[in-house]
Amino acid sequence: MFKLIDLPYASEALEPVISAQTLGFHHGKHLQGYVNNLNALLPGSPFEALCHPGRSEESVLAEIIRRANPAGNPAPSPAVFNNAGQILNHNLYFRQFRAPSADAAPKGALAEQIARQFGSFEAFQAEFAAKGAGLFGSGWVWLSADADGSLVITQEPGAGNPVTKGLRPLLTFDVWEHAYYLDYQNRRPDHLKALWSIIDWDEIERRYTSQD
Ligand code: MN
Repeated sequence: MFKLIDLPYASEALEPVISAQTLGFHHGKHLQGYVNNLNALLPGSPFEALCHPGRSEESVLAEIIRRANPAGNPAPSPAVFNNAGQILNHNLYFRQFRAPSADAAPKGALAEQIARQFGSFEAFQAEFAAKGAGLFGSGWVWLSADADGSLVITQEPGAGNPVTKGLRPLLTFDVWEHAYYLDYQNRRPDHLKALWSIIDWDEIERRYTSQD
């Protein structure tokens, strides 16, 4: 059975970029709903056996997502795919933030790779934000790494996660309206622009350099 993750900061910590009210609904209602749904779907399903102690929750969710994926899969389970995907997506999303900082920027190996591939951090931000703003409807924009450590930006509709493409997810912006509507209404690009100041680049660097 899966549990709702604890947030690694207070509910007011991300203001004014994300209000305590938005965070409360997003974590306490939306994510809790996906957890409840998946826990109701698992018993008696072929996915139940994947959940055993000794495996990280992240790797179990990634395997459930790959096996339940409706795309090119002979025995898909769209409901399991959507709810497991949204749990993994939100766990990565909520754990990538910290209190606002004017100089939030990547350092180390990740910063070097961004400069190598995109030219500059600013050029990377522009491409990432444009792909988030341009995604039609609900979904996620992702920065991932491939097996060689090269960086890839992808748009994923609905509950999509780049693990279905064999990529390792590093950073994500949630462009579902529930992520920003209370604070920004229809101004999705303004919300995405503000998110840069609360990214915990130490966490993103840890994901990039970890060998899991
Ligand atoms: Mn969300």
